[in-house]
Amino acid sequence: MADILLIEDDVTIRTALSRGLRDLGHAVSSSPTALDGLRLAVQDRPDLIVLDLGLPDLDGAELLRMLRAVSRVPVIVATARDGDAEMVPVLDAGADDYVVKPYSAAQLDARIRAVLRRAADATPEEPLRVGGLRVDPRAREARLDGATLDLTPREFDVLHYLAARAGEVVTKRELLTEVWQLPYGGADKTVDVHLSWLRRKLGETASEPRYLHTVRGVGVKLVGPS
Ligand code: CA
Repeated sequence: MADILLIEDDVTIRTALSRGLRDLGHAVSSSPTALDGLRLAVQDRPDLIVLDLGLPDLDGAELLRMLRAVSRVPVIVATARDGDAEMVPVLDAGADDYVVKPYSAAQLDARIRAVLRRAADATPEEPLRVGGLRVDPRAREARLDGATLDLTPREFDVLHYLAARAGEVVTKRELLTEVWQLPYGGADKTVDVHLSWLRRKLGETASEPRYLHTVRGVGVKLVGPS
């Protein structure tokens, strides 16, 4: 069904998952180290990468940043813990989803199909305008009153999601599901942190909002300044 590259140093997990994913119809290649995995990612161009964060030669988040410099291939990270401290930098570095160990091949397969479906659906759209804000998904560029905003990929995705629903209240749960693709987990704090960064870049604060309005106990909405 898909060409999967599995980067995982634990031989037991690697063997079991490779077999499990093959049984589910995927073609699987694997690597026990980060650098060999990076080489395979560039050389073989898999449809999706499953990346273990605890690798012997390089930190998984660092590998992800190196990978993102050369490729937009969907990446699901596998981690032993699901704390914010570990996950926020990894999601920021460009992971598309994550699974927490121990996980089954069937569970991983569900995530793989969801991520690939989303990648296929990600057709570029027309620029959106809200007040002085212009969000262009094709160029992945946002401008405020003509000045380009320096946004991380995740901040851009959040802003684009909110701009597409301007005037509507969007819950943090919805952002976790739709932007982070974490329907079953993820902490509200992850969303709070990104919203506060986004606010700062829009030149506003939670107490004196212009575009990004918190609706206490419900969520957040983007509106043009009155
Ligand atoms: Ca490991």
